[in-house]
Amino acid sequence: MSNTVIVLDENGLKRLADHYAAKKIVRNAPGVVFAAKLPDAVITAYKSGKVLFQGAGSEREAALWGTADVNAASGKPKTKGDTLPERLASASVLGSDETGTGDFFGPVTVAACFVRADQIELVRELGVKDSKQLNDDWMRKIAPDLQATLVHSVLTLPNDKYNDVQARGWSQGKIKALLHNQALKHVLRKMEDERPDYILIDQFAERGIYYNHLKAEKEIVRENVLFSTKAENLHVAVAAASIIARVAFLEEMDRLSAQAGMTLPKGAGPKVDQIAATILWKHGEEKLKSMTKWHFANAQKAKAIISKKKL
Ligand code: MG
Repeated sequence: MSNTVIVLDENGLKRLADHYAAKKIVRNAPGVVFAAKLPDAVITAYKSGKVLFQGAGSEREAALWGTADVNAASGKPKTKGDTLPERLASASVLGSDETGTGDFFGPVTVAACFVRADQIELVRELGVKDSKQLNDDWMRKIAPDLQATLVHSVLTLPNDKYNDVQARGWSQGKIKALLHNQALKHVLRKMEDERPDYILIDQFAERGIYYNHLKAEKEIVRENVLFSTKAENLHVAVAAASIIARVAFLEEMDRLSAQAGMTLPKGAGPKVDQIAATILWKHGEEKLKSMTKWHFANAQKAKAIISKKKL
């Protein structure tokens, strides 16, 4: 099935709704403001201004409204990274993203996820929205459907392993690069003969730095790889990967919280110091270390809180 995506401003959306008023259909998917069905095309307009044209007549209809270039359109986030192909949003894409790197407690998780062009609509139907407006509860709810539907790989780097490689001098950038490469490799293997049009990595390091981290690896995924910041807004494959990675992180946090006997907070703020100090006091340093990224300043702050307590 052929897909075309364009972005319209508010006026454009109104004109579009008028133009197709006679063909209007009801669509209750999240974010949808208008939908219409022609004999050879389905048109779906989203609150964001994005309009998806699907079916054999999609290009003809989209051409009435402007050029298909999501990135150049107004109102889209400015991204850093590679110059992106037109129609990236409607291509078959293998995307990857990570989470947990800014959290003192809990692992780093990375997911890669393949969305074929003809699955994009379905992935949206399953509840993947354009940006990080998604909250944790919603992500927990939809992740199982995404995992059941899409070829994916999710890796959780436990804290012990993280602390071990970190102490050996690995930067977070290197840790992330290795995990992304591995997750992408896994998905490509599962896809057998099928290949994505593009691989899109949510950029945490520039291309040169990313590949420098991987230079000792035997198998390095390089073909058709694009890097962009805010990539979860550019293709649902990255948005889905981001959700799957996040839910893996949350599940590990649940497990660690049960172990600690208290809910572990996310992030690296003052609340984290307090909870870390409580765990340190109750269970000792080895236990705290086993559930945290030990090189974060929070470890020293927790120790400082305890030494004040002891005085
Ligand atoms: Mg990211």
